[in-house]
Amino acid sequence: MSVASTNNISVKKKLPDWGTSIFAIMSNMANEYNALNLSQGFPDFNCSDELLSLVQHFQEKGFNQYAPMPGVPVLRNVISDTIKKVYGRSYNPDTEITVTSGATQAIYTAISCIINKGDEAILFDPAYDCYTPDIEANGGIPVRIPLNPDFTYNWNEVRRNISSKTKLMIFNSPHNPAGSLLTKVDIEQLIEIVKDTDILLLSDEVYEFIVFDNEKHESFNLYDELYKRSFIISSFGKTFHTTGWKIGYCAAPVYLMNEFRKLHQFVVFASNTPIQYAYAEYLKDEKNYSLLSEFYQKKKDLFAEMMSDSNFKVLPCMGTYFQLLDYSNISDKNDMDFTEWLTKEIGLATIPLSPFYENGSSSKVIRVCFAKQDDVLIKAAGILSSL
Ligand code: PMP
Ligand code: GLN
Repeated sequence: MSVASTNNISVKKKLPDWGTSIFAIMSNMANEYNALNLSQGFPDFNCSDELLSLVQHFQEKGFNQYAPMPGVPVLRNVISDTIKKVYGRSYNPDTEITVTSGATQAIYTAISCIINKGDEAILFDPAYDCYTPDIEANGGIPVRIPLNPDFTYNWNEVRRNISSKTKLMIFNSPHNPAGSLLTKVDIEQLIEIVKDTDILLLSDEVYEFIVFDNEKHESFNLYDELYKRSFIISSFGKTFHTTGWKIGYCAAPVYLMNEFRKLHQFVVFASNTPIQYAYAEYLKDEKNYSLLSEFYQKKKDLFAEMMSDSNFKVLPCMGTYFQLLDYSNISDKNDMDFTEWLTKEIGLATIPLSPFYENGSSSKVIRVCFAKQDDVLIKAAGILSSL
């Protein structure tokens, strides 16, 4: 039995195989060694003055007590209107949308609704870090299927891994860390697989508004067969440059949302009130999200252009604000050692890819966050190009 103990007191470990998240490790290392931090995914520039003023306005007006458990009605209404406008899908804001303390809490709550002891959940490697521990904390069994080397899906492998115990499949598009997108062909395959089953879906769409080169984001909202069995999750942290405010939301048909809210009320009860009111005003203006892809496209292109003569190989990036770089022409070190060396000796913090895999990764690839000011991107590309 795996226990943590001191003197005669002990606790059975809930997550015996997990340590501290790679995002916390690399950001701490960046601070300790005073390195440029392109590791953990957050912008190094401020959100808009308008949004800051809105928060201040609602704080001064006295909106400082508990919000209603599922979120303030005006924000749920605007979220519902936005989903309708962007994807054509109707959710009842009273019963089918819940505001959460970040996408992380929404993911934990959705997984906890579905997964009971011994249930299997399918996810894909590389996988965003919280999915597997959330499954394990609920006594579930993560079934991690590797994506192909170019981060496309092997649907035959998916079919082979489905069993009577499969209760959930988790998708993330645009994909962190790969920067890849689910395609229409992928969606068709997925519909074929789930349509006559009772498998539920979690679609993590936090980067829904960051898609490049006129590619299309295939939201699960667009497909009846997917929507009716899905928790669809997003985050205002990504969309409005406010990762530290930790507000996201979950949309799901009422039979799923009823279960979600039962847990949500006992995990957080409600999320930050004045920020919800501020987001509600800000989200009404379409240009506050519709221009985001264009904004990040310039940063992606700037960084890729600066890296084009370097010894790194710049891998395709179709969405998110993460760029993968292959360093196999530069070093034989594994990615954990390489990123540690890069941070401590060269002064630039990035993220290794191994922690996103069940059994680590042998590929020599690192992740760089390009949600940074242009001069920082230019400086970082200069450092990397000297290697
Ligand atoms: N999912 C993915 C794919 C992410 O990259 C992140 C990190 N932003 C989250 C979920 C968590 O979002 P939040 O910060 O709103 O909890
Ligand atoms: N989503 C962010 C990333 O991928 C990190 C969020 C966190 O630190 N949990 O870097």
